[in-house]
Amino acid sequence: QKLRAASLPKQKKIPGVKHIILVASGKGGVGKSTTAVNLALATSSLDRHVKVGLLDADIYGPSVPTMMNLDGERAKINHEKKIIPLNNYGLMCMSMGFLIDKNTPVVWRGLMVTSALQQLLSDVAWGELDYLFVDMPPGTGDAQLTICQNVPVSGAVMVTTPQDIALHDVRRGAEMFKKVKVPILGVVQNMSVFLCPNCGHKTHIFGEDGAKRLSEDTGIQVLGDIPLNVTIRETSDAGTPVTASSPASAEAEAYRQIAKLV
Ligand code: ADP
Repeated sequence: QKLRAASLPKQKKIPGVKHIILVASGKGGVGKSTTAVNLALATSSLDRHVKVGLLDADIYGPSVPTMMNLDGERAKINHEKKIIPLNNYGLMCMSMGFLIDKNTPVVWRGLMVTSALQQLLSDVAWGELDYLFVDMPPGTGDAQLTICQNVPVSGAVMVTTPQDIALHDVRRGAEMFKKVKVPILGVVQNMSVFLCPNCGHKTHIFGEDGAKRLSEDTGIQVLGDIPLNVTIRETSDAGTPVTASSPASAEAEAYRQIAKLV
């Protein structure tokens, strides 16, 4: 253990970045990327003086390019050999998807993960940012540790569905963050309720009040609920995140309320 710790690089601030906020989940498919994108956009919409960036640290399955309508874009390098982030909807974005081809085999990506992550953490010319949101890879593995050990993190937002399995994973994630001294800012309960667009009936497809129970057990604050909603799915997949494309919608408001608490 000691040997490993001694050989690890020390935490280094990302130049110009005031706060790094991780958006994490214990498992994939719970809506972590959707939440990261909308939370970052909501944060920048709350105050036009606040500068926000989004780093897609999901090396295996980067979704930020699609969700931010930047698919197929390539990042350029500046004269200081730093990677220039791409910008859409007023949000600075960086993703592995801007650096390598979508069809690069996963095995090769695996070998590159640590060095690729380190590069994404240290070699991007963000300029001045108040908040850098990081869309984390799902789970609690080496990639998560690499991030926490390389840069000083202000806090983590955990995303979960109300299902037991997802909640177990959040507990595990919370334990990991505790070990690396990253404060948990709270949990977002995604896909909390489905409101039938035809009859208005509410269905708790993934169970009810899971995050509330988690919060009672662990003391982690529930930051808010995001409903299971076709608008969120469609806008997310179409590269027009609801917070940017329909700022007056109830969904966008839900993300803004969470952003205020973060
Ligand atoms: P993760 O990053 O956890 O793997 P994603 O954010 O990629 O999850 O979401 C997985 C899928 O679920 C995407 O197609 C996304 O559009 C959809 N999705 C996420 N959150 C919601 C929601 N609240 N309502 C409807 N669909 C959602």
